[in-house]
Amino acid sequence: MTVRYPRLIVSGNKIFENTVRVAERCARAGITLTGVTKGVCAREVLVRAMAEGGCDELGDSRIDNLAAIRTMNVGLPLLLLRIPMPSEIAETVRIADRSLVSMARTISLIDRECRAAGRTHEIILMTDLGDLREGVWMGRVDEIAPVLKASPRVRCVGVGVNFGCFGGVLPVPEKLEQLLSVGKELERFLEYPLSVYSGGSTSSLALLERGTMPRGITNLRVGEGILLGADVTGARDIPWLHQRTMCLEAEIVEVYRKPSVPVGPVGLDAFGGEPVFEDKGERLRAIVAVGRQDVLVEGLTPETPEADILGGSSDHMILDVEDVRPVPELGGILRFFPNYGAMLALSTSPYIAFDVV
Ligand SMILES: *Cc1c(COP(=O)(O)O)cnc(C)c1O
Repeated sequence: MTVRYPRLIVSGNKIFENTVRVAERCARAGITLTGVTKGVCAREVLVRAMAEGGCDELGDSRIDNLAAIRTMNVGLPLLLLRIPMPSEIAETVRIADRSLVSMARTISLIDRECRAAGRTHEIILMTDLGDLREGVWMGRVDEIAPVLKASPRVRCVGVGVNFGCFGGVLPVPEKLEQLLSVGKELERFLEYPLSVYSGGSTSSLALLERGTMPRGITNLRVGEGILLGADVTGARDIPWLHQRTMCLEAEIVEVYRKPSVPVGPVGLDAFGGEPVFEDKGERLRAIVAVGRQDVLVEGLTPETPEADILGGSSDHMILDVEDVRPVPELGGILRFFPNYGAMLALSTSPYIAFDVV
């Protein structure tokens, strides 16, 4: 079989083991685990690894990915993570068991769609506790509660929060206590108890480790921790999880010794950036056939520490390989570890082969 490059090679076993470890830690704290599949575009082998590893639910931000998971029959409930577009309410109600919601109007639309389709739908009300992405600001539920009461086919099962997504706000016990009180207030309005207090994503695992997760938080939605063993918001690798769960292999299409500073008048680069160069004299440079169209170049770490990524254009990535041994050659393969952004791009690029081993 011919191997196609560039390709992303993923260890299904490491992702399975990471899932088991995260699920166990959550379970010990009475927390259910929503495994988040968007980072790998809901690839079937990995969806199954996450299901078998002990996730209680699977979540994805894209309805198309949830539709794909639906056909895999993994037997877990499916959560739509991105607050639905008004234009995708019908699909949401048909495909997802639950969705995250932040506006009263969306709830009304879901209720109307449910009535038309003869269904019911569960929602988790998102609360913005300062990160400035989605959610009712600081949990002002007074506007939402009457709409929920008037939407009999929509059942609000809980409240949720995001941290570290847009504003980079870190999860701390005080913020989660705030989520608990928002939920309690909503329970008083609704006159029934909420079962889901969804306290964030990978970054919230730190509270479990320190034993500072407030009692009453019942769910976490974890992608990065399981898929990469990392927590980008906390700027750390998670010591009890596998890192280097996947690597990108890219093929060398040119090796030349060239000056390290451009020769001639310099304008902006292909992406409108102002190129900056350090003069190191002539250096051996390799070009690999992968580019910004496929990957976040800044999100890659070369497997060989001696290789230095200088930058990328749409289709090429340029490296200083002066100190790499054996000396790279045309047709050789260089390997890189992706961060979350790079993984997300690689998983969704049609030009990247995706192999789970
Ligand atoms: C992507 C996403 C997650 C998962 O975040 P990680 O940092 O990958 O754990 C959780 N919740 C929502 C709403 C998301 O969009």
